[in-house]
Amino acid sequence: MKIEVLEKNDINLHIVVRDADVPLMNALRRLALAEVPCMAIEEVVMIENSSILQDEIIAHRLGLTPLKTDLDAYNLPEACECKSEFGCAQCRVTLTLDAEAKDGTRTVYSGEIVSENPEIVPVSDKIPIIKLAKNQKLKLEAYARLGIGKTHAKWQPVSMCAYKYYPKITPPAEKCPDCSKCIDICPKKVLDIKDEKVEVRDLLACNLCMDCVDACPKKPAALAVEWEKNAFVMSIESTGALPPERVLKEATKLLAKQLNEFEEQIKAEPQ
Ligand SMILES: [Zn+2]
Repeated sequence: MKIEVLEKNDINLHIVVRDADVPLMNALRRLALAEVPCMAIEEVVMIENSSILQDEIIAHRLGLTPLKTDLDAYNLPEACECKSEFGCAQCRVTLTLDAEAKDGTRTVYSGEIVSENPEIVPVSDKIPIIKLAKNQKLKLEAYARLGIGKTHAKWQPVSMCAYKYYPKITPPAEKCPDCSKCIDICPKKVLDIKDEKVEVRDLLACNLCMDCVDACPKKPAALAVEWEKNAFVMSIESTGALPPERVLKEATKLLAKQLNEFEEQIKAEPQ
């Protein structure tokens, strides 16, 4: 298998994977979405809430605030040695929020949440939690724990994880002087014209919609759009909880673990 990195930063990862197949790519995609753990607020103890929003709505908004995650320092609650419903220092982080609108209406942002662990904080300081009118107060204690997207979407470390076949476009071999229908119809502007010849401007933007082939007045069409069966373009967009390459790494680890368990269970069956 060969992997080529097209783009990599704190949030996005675009890679080309060659010599792979659909079941593998799809398994990795599903694991990244549903089983790679990340931190999210699970319980909120409301100390004072004189705002107009109910406690439950505030708790829901806090739960959906993505938190930076340190996977190496914390255990999943069910895997933690404490076996306690309440949790311990290895499986729970306490965060507090104490906000008051003293001088008039104001918005409380995620940046005001104080965490006991400076590594586990909201990924952005600018997420609005609530608007408080003058003299309204919000004081609470929240507990964040690791979880997986299968249980609740708040524990999904990625906002997007998708793959597509690697496109293969063969432009018309000869000049097509009278028509630029294939170029005009493409929503992704994949094709371009140069010296009266159609050429591929941005191959990876192609989503294989085939509009260009259908638009060609020649039958059969003068250009061909195909895809490579064993090559894929994968895009991962992290919520900021984990770096996208870490999400992919964890997904591969989980796949290996699940396959091992499968193998063990086959062995355990009587002959
Ligand atoms: Zn614990």
